[in-house]
Amino acid sequence: MELHITGLSKTYANGVAALSGVTLSIGHGLFGLLGPNGAGKSTLMRILATLQDADCGSARIRDGERQIDVLNDKPAVRALLGYLPQDFGLYPKMSAIKLLSHLAQLKGIDDRGERRERVEGLLQKTNLWSDRHRALGTFSGGMRQRFGIAQALIANPRLIIVDEPTAGLDPEERVRFHNLLAEVGEDVVVLLSTHIVADVAELCPRLAVLNMGRVLVEGAPVAIAARLFGRVYATSVARNDLQQFALRYRVISTRLRAGRTVVHVISEVPLGEGFEAVEPTLEDAYFAAIAGVLPAPPDDPANAAAAAQD
Ligand code: ADP
Repeated sequence: MELHITGLSKTYANGVAALSGVTLSIGHGLFGLLGPNGAGKSTLMRILATLQDADCGSARIRDGERQIDVLNDKPAVRALLGYLPQDFGLYPKMSAIKLLSHLAQLKGIDDRGERRERVEGLLQKTNLWSDRHRALGTFSGGMRQRFGIAQALIANPRLIIVDEPTAGLDPEERVRFHNLLAEVGEDVVVLLSTHIVADVAELCPRLAVLNMGRVLVEGAPVAIAARLFGRVYATSVARNDLQQFALRYRVISTRLRAGRTVVHVISEVPLGEGFEAVEPTLEDAYFAAIAGVLPAPPDDPANAAAAAQD
């Protein structure tokens, strides 16, 4: 199962170019789509979930011998899609088990026994079994998201799209949600959009960074972080000095730690006293990509050209 997106573009009626020539190849397993708010993630997800049309470009699913044109064969996509949108409505007075069973019926699982088996299995898998008779309106944010995943999985989807699923969850619920996603299945495509680097760093074998409608970088988290190898330095700066500091150094992130601001900077030349060379993280690479200063990968022709000039 693979998803190939080529040159996908979308401009809204108000002139906002939400996607500009997005090209991505996504294999089975978990794929992270990382980007700040407004990057175009939801637009891309909605187009792939057949809820919105693109202006141009193509998206194709290859499932064994079968090929599906995502933009033009919406029924075929819907038959294999499980979607957890950013905001989804629940019937607050209905119980989890009732709504899930109802949704299963809407998805065409007509056999009662089969429906029951699936619904009960998913309630157990999402750890909602003991709350299955509770009204959905009383669920916490984390429980709602777990219910959201249960409804997305109801018809054995082969393409699963989850849009910002951990926004608003506490750390414990986030871990629980991550574990659930990781379990979902190896041979299906799971597309996870988020603006939280930690969501994808450990969970997704591959990811893409999207900003202003464009793919900035794509690959394995470790390989992306490695592009900054030997170039990231940390130091601690007093708050009032930050502005001045940022004029001298290329700051990629600042973080408050025990009352001090820990700053990560990128430098092509070794930085001496007061700086500590640190192992680059995906977060460093993400901020560098957004700032447009992430170096090309070592085998990139751009590097070869630069080396030839030296
Ligand atoms: P993300 O999910 O990464 O936050 P979105 O896809 O929601 O990004 O939005 C991308 C850009 O498109 C943003 O600038 C947003 O304001 C704009 N946008 C999204 N939906 C609409 C819409 N229905 N009409 C006009 N502009 C929109």
